[in-house]
Amino acid sequence: MAKYALILVDLLNDFITGPISTERAPEIVQPNRRLIDAAHEKGIPVIYANDCHTPEIDHEFVVWGPHAVVGTKGAEVVPELTPTDKDYIVPKKRYSGFYGTELELLLRELGVDTVIITGWQTDCCCRHTAADAFFRGYKIIIPREATDTDTLENYLSGLAYLKKNYGADVCYVDELIDRL
Ligand code: ZN
Repeated sequence: MAKYALILVDLLNDFITGPISTERAPEIVQPNRRLIDAAHEKGIPVIYANDCHTPEIDHEFVVWGPHAVVGTKGAEVVPELTPTDKDYIVPKKRYSGFYGTELELLLRELGVDTVIITGWQTDCCCRHTAADAFFRGYKIIIPREATDTDTLENYLSGLAYLKKNYGADVCYVDELIDRL
């Protein structure tokens, strides 16, 4: 039987409802809420991989401008998905939840072999997190309504890329909840 972890990428105010959000972003909140509730019910660890950038100097600002700056409201998880005290928070400074963070050690200590990756954006932070998970030998599940990006085209090509290159199981949220 698979040992899952739910990894929620960048479900933060700045991305979902704040200054750099798009109209597509809020649509992923409720599917993530359902997944978090299911994970809690089934004892699956819930891990928030949250952008947490250094003011002024962070290298990501070269591409995206300032966002999710440490200590600001914009860097907090959206209120509907606020972590509980039994969830894990992994602050990150790059797209991947693994880069320069304790995520790998945490997954190992939890005995995880399969990661469910959701959040913002399918073709950037989710993709890079999936890449690093694949490189480390994890199976990857992507519940499709629980992730999105700026355009439909980028979303669909993002999902196709995850499937093609990392063997990601791209499924629907309800179907996944049924088999957890
Ligand atoms: Zn960032």
